[in-house]
Amino acid sequence: MDSSSLGFHPGFAPLLEATRSIAAEVAAPHADDVDRKARFPIETVTALGEAGVLAAAVPRELGGAGCGMLELGQMCAALAQACGSSAMVLAMHYSQLACLARHGMSSDFFREYMKGMLQRPRLLASMTSEVGTYGDTRSSICAVQRDAGRFRLTKDATTGSYCHQADAILVTCRRDPQAASSDQVLVMVQQDDCTLAQTTTWDTLGMRGTCSPGFRLESSGPEAQIVPGTFADSSAQTMVPYSHILWSSLWYGIAADAVAKAAQFVRGQARQSPGTVPPTATRLAQVSLALQNMKQNWQSAAQAFDALAPQAQAEELSGIGWALRLNNLKISCSDAAPQIVHRALQIVGILGYKNDSPFSLGRHYRDALSASLMISNDRIAARSASMLLVYKDTP
Ligand SMILES: Cc1cc2nc3c(=O)[nH]c(=O)nc-3n(C[C@H](O)[C@H](O)[C@H](O)COP(=O)(O)OP(=O)(O)OC[C@H]3O[C@@H](n4cnc5c(N)ncnc54)[C@H](O)[C@@H]3O)c2cc1C
Repeated sequence: MDSSSLGFHPGFAPLLEATRSIAAEVAAPHADDVDRKARFPIETVTALGEAGVLAAAVPRELGGAGCGMLELGQMCAALAQACGSSAMVLAMHYSQLACLARHGMSSDFFREYMKGMLQRPRLLASMTSEVGTYGDTRSSICAVQRDAGRFRLTKDATTGSYCHQADAILVTCRRDPQAASSDQVLVMVQQDDCTLAQTTTWDTLGMRGTCSPGFRLESSGPEAQIVPGTFADSSAQTMVPYSHILWSSLWYGIAADAVAKAAQFVRGQARQSPGTVPPTATRLAQVSLALQNMKQNWQSAAQAFDALAPQAQAEELSGIGWALRLNNLKISCSDAAPQIVHRALQIVGILGYKNDSPFSLGRHYRDALSASLMISNDRIAARSASMLLVYKDTP
């Protein structure tokens, strides 16, 4: 079945094809080096930019492909099968671009910025974390100050992925120095607008290529770079749904590659004893079920998101029903990914445990372990717990 028969936009098929070949020809051969050196996957991100994949979410109204959630998720999943860090960079970039595409269209500055992405690839990063607020993205200490059409903003972030490599960073902060901690806006800080002083290191178990240390950011720029509206809205209606669905899609991609390696291993065993089913095949059947559940989980959320009527989106996505669904998706996919990789490792055995074997699963395992920490599952579960006190689902 081709992608157009599934309701995908015609511009999507070439982008998915390009992503798949970049995954196989660029991301996969560099993945171990990226991981070992904890370096940015520059070859992969450059290739994604040249192929137009970074601009895939630029709205059609501006000349872009306007890819929807399911389409973006397919690309993140395809890339994750080769390099988890590259896929995480792509997913985070798409979440930021979606904030501009969905909340910046009333601004001439952001419309021109997105049109420019079709001419010259641009990579967007995110800075929501802050020393003193940690994983609570809906609270800021720093505040933007406005004066004579310009802004000034200083932020101490605990974690900022590829901030040195990005063309611009979307930074959360209080609306003004008098605003409450939750009264936030999103400010686009371009590389030329800021100085970035690295404050911590990024020598982690996994997702090493995301290059995510702490940074102190000092910036100033035109006031037009403040995203219209509140961050409360762009968070609920865009940043949270895009992050949780696209992260889930890439965690699925990591798990899918681990299961593919396990399947290859089991087929190799079967070839050695023709006419018998190796005992590992039963484990493979069980883990493929868990993988299928994970795929259904993120894809059904992506399809439901894409199916939301434009006029109902703001209200639906700001409601408790969607918030709970996205929280559940994030928690379940982030729990499932390392469990599936673990089960694939039990199938492959020592060849999966070795770092220098073609069946190696070390990087998959370490990358997948970041999932439950990336916005702590405990923090998300605590939010769901308070919502469930007042929410009654209609079956
Ligand atoms: C690979 C990766 C890339 C990242 N990239 C970025 C980025 O680009 N930009 C950015 O801003 N941030 C980024 N982050 C940071 C991330 O989004 C979170 O802010 C950060 O991981 C949370 O850090 P924390 O665990 O110290 O914080 P916390 O959420 O405060 O958690 C600390 C501890 O407290 C526990 N805890 C918290 N709340 C509760 C609760 N209600 N009940 C019980 N226990 C609780 C948690 O389980 C945890 O053990 C990245 C993180 C990772 C792993």
